[in-house]
Amino acid sequence: MITKKQMQDLAKKHGTPLFIVDHDEIRRNYAQFKKYLPRVQAYYAVKAEPMPEIVKTLYKAGASFDVASMPEFMIVHEYIKGMPDKKRLAWIWDKIIYANPIKPNETLKELDQYRPLVTFDNLEEIHKIKKYAPHAGLCLRIRVPNTGAVVELSSKFGASPGEAVDLILEAVKQGLGVEGLSFHVGSQTTNFENYVQAINLSADIFKEAKERGYDKMNLLDIGGGFPAPYDSSVKPFQELAEKINAELERLFPDPKIEILAEPGRFMIATAGTSVMRINGKTVRDGKTCYYVNDGAYHTFSGIIFDHQHCNVYSFRKGKKTENCSVFGPTCDALDVISSAMPLPTDLQLGELLYSTNMGAYSHASSTWFNGFPPAKVVHINK
Ligand SMILES: *Cc1c(COP(=O)(O)O)cnc(C)c1O
Repeated sequence: MITKKQMQDLAKKHGTPLFIVDHDEIRRNYAQFKKYLPRVQAYYAVKAEPMPEIVKTLYKAGASFDVASMPEFMIVHEYIKGMPDKKRLAWIWDKIIYANPIKPNETLKELDQYRPLVTFDNLEEIHKIKKYAPHAGLCLRIRVPNTGAVVELSSKFGASPGEAVDLILEAVKQGLGVEGLSFHVGSQTTNFENYVQAINLSADIFKEAKERGYDKMNLLDIGGGFPAPYDSSVKPFQELAEKINAELERLFPDPKIEILAEPGRFMIATAGTSVMRINGKTVRDGKTCYYVNDGAYHTFSGIIFDHQHCNVYSFRKGKKTENCSVFGPTCDALDVISSAMPLPTDLQLGELLYSTNMGAYSHASSTWFNGFPPAKVVHINK
């Protein structure tokens, strides 16, 4: 764990706003994932935080990758370059899944040379893949309950379980190979039953496909959604892992069926720390307001895009706190980190504040709005 002293030293050396990525923490998260889900290969969802340094650390640790665009694919492709063709083709499915069910034609054309593994969830996409990426392996994304997830995804993607086998058979009829199924239970899922239901739905679809003559599916991708321990209400990962393992054991006992997952947030959330500086201060309607140099258009973009509630802390010890407002640096009234953050009311201009568990969906969606650049990034324990 990064210490307060380290944060202050790094802020002094590099200035603020600062985004610190702790690679020891990334390795710990990956090791924890493998420890509790030994049968599951983790394909890190690059979108959670796409820095090449992070991909490198996870690659070295043994992870694979879930990408959703050509630029993300190319970050991982770095590790294919120079491989002999034969090895490259064997490697690609083991290391990358292109998990965006909707792909532009140009992307499919470009991807085809790599014979990638790609997801799909509708008929039009089958026609596109047939035309532009006939060498791809397919994985059907199905729609599963997202009950209780902080970020819901089931309204945008996923074939309904009732049409799943029709779509699989149609793809096969067109000469494409369908390798298996994937789903996403919703991001930051604290309702572990979602995984149980989704694995059960998948088992039903495997069975129906077999009954209707297709028995070549050998992959189940249980997606992302694994919750980061943002607060004490999040149940331990081990508890979720035990549930998943039990269902996999019961419904997919055949070791030839490969089990994949696409954890994003789980791998990276706890590895990111923000340090910011107070640039302004006033009292409005009796409430102390601090204006800091990072905000909702920058590292705290998750407040808008990811339903995040971020905690901001003072470096001072044991001070009495009151609910304060913390505003970002831009002129937009939307640029608010919190309107009820417990902070001491006597903080001075120039003082530093920090925020932990900031690794996922934060710097990744930072903008340049109002002329303020994204926070400077520092990697530690690389
Ligand atoms: C965003 C996304 C993920 C990662 O989700 P997390 O909740 O961060 O684990 C995985 N798979 C797909 C297809 C995604 O869109």
